[in-house]
Amino acid sequence: MNPLLWIFQFIFGCRHRHRSRVFTIKHRTYRVCFDCGREFDLRTGSR
Ligand SMILES: [Zn+2]
Repeated sequence: MNPLLWIFQFIFGCRHRHRSRVFTIKHRTYRVCFDCGREFDLRTGSR
């Protein structure tokens, strides 16, 4: 992957579309990106 693109994604969050379904573990709700492994917290009110 282009390093600049990686840094951009690191700062602003990834824009991949391959994301897992929503998990809820220990009162934490999040999804995982299959492409870069990032975790995305889902908070009440934000979809
Ligand atoms: Zn990603």
